Amino acid sequence: MISLRNVSKNFGDFQALQEVSLDVALGERVVVCGPSGSGKSTLIRCINRLEAHDSGEIVIDGITLSDKPAKLDRIRCTVGMVFQQFNLFPHLSVMENLCLGPRRVLGLSAQDARARAMKHLERVRIPDQADKLPRQLSGGQQQRVAIARSLCMEPRILLFDEPTSALDPEMISEVLDVMTELADTGMTMIVVTHEMGFARRVADRMVFMDNGEIVEVGAPKDVFTAPKSERFGTFLKKIL
Ligand code: ATP
Ligand code: MG
Repeated sequence: MISLRNVSKNFGDFQALQEVSLDVALGERVVVCGPSGSGKSTLIRCINRLEAHDSGEIVIDGITLSDKPAKLDRIRCTVGMVFQQFNLFPHLSVMENLCLGPRRVLGLSAQDARARAMKHLERVRIPDQADKLPRQLSGGQQQRVAIARSLCMEPRILLFDEPTSALDPEMISEVLDVMTELADTGMTMIVVTHEMGFARRVADRMVFMDNGEIVEVGAPKDVFTAPKSERFGTFLKKIL
């Protein structure tokens, strides 16, 4: 589904990703963790081409990422992304936020886009918030709108970049619950998070990054009991 081969990414002479290789299968849930600046965001931003990698190969659902604009559209339809800061359009209602992509990019009629939006708002349990502006919602509700907005594009893969780190503690679980339900439907997911309870419950594999490299990959039950690398062990001790 997702294949990265020796992917490197530089910002000037700083190497943010160094020869990263990773395969993610259809329906697999991968949690990525690691210290600040280790390249987690850069990794997932390269997967939906918010950043262009410098060398190596990335293949998503049979599409090799390159500079051809036509491919960019296909990638954006295949891969959904949920950000730490929600990134909703502040001047549009929840419903308008959800309908924009399906109308403009997928060419759905207004009626079909609204029906699809409502279906996904129900899925994230806030159908009653459809006519509000983002700022009238709590952080947890805004993040669930952002998840619903991604789902409206019917992506095959969902990427999450620290989706709960901007939230007050009492709102974290409502977002993690929605993500857990999504995982249960078989969605292919890569989630950058330090919520280790979520990782333990949901992840098929955990990826630990440090200094732009993947240092360790393993099943949660293995890495939580006995990480192979000292760096991962030290990191886990700090956050658990
Ligand atoms: P955090 O946990 O703080 O979100 P991260 O693991 O997501 O960190 P990245 O955002 O991927 O880390 O950044 C990796 C490194 O690349 C950092 O040192 C960062 O300063 C650098 N970097 C990221 N984006 C850019 C950019 N657009 N220009 C220059 N340097 C960048
Ligand atoms: Mg980051």
